[in-house]
Amino acid sequence: MAKEKLLSRRQVLRRVVSVTSLVPIAAVVAPIAALRSAPVRAADTPLISVDDPAAKAVKYVEDASKAKAAMPGSTCANCGLYQGKSGAKDGPCQIFPGKAVTAAGWCTSWAPQM
Ligand code: SF4
Repeated sequence: MAKEKLLSRRQVLRRVVSVTSLVPIAAVVAPIAALRSAPVRAADTPLISVDDPAAKAVKYVEDASKAKAAMPGSTCANCGLYQGKSGAKDGPCQIFPGKAVTAAGWCTSWAPQM
């Protein structure tokens, strides 16, 4: 009886090993690594319009100097929710999925970078 259980465990273990060996590690790791290292490309992301209801809801402007409520010096480029590259003129923003904002922009959701 005990020997039967041991054999059964061995069989299960062999099957697990044989199945997992069929999946090349590179086939799993490479796509994950590519996703993690993929740069945020503003060119692929259209700019959000200031007339977009989501933009209006947070009083988004493309030029922070035109926002009366903006703290001096606060722009999308130094906002914690901005995902553009340093020095880029625009980039994605976490509150507008699939859209980009201008680095010089601002909205009421501005938050300091951590
Ligand atoms: Fe700009 Fe930040 Fe507002 Fe996004 S959340 S629009 S990056 S100020």
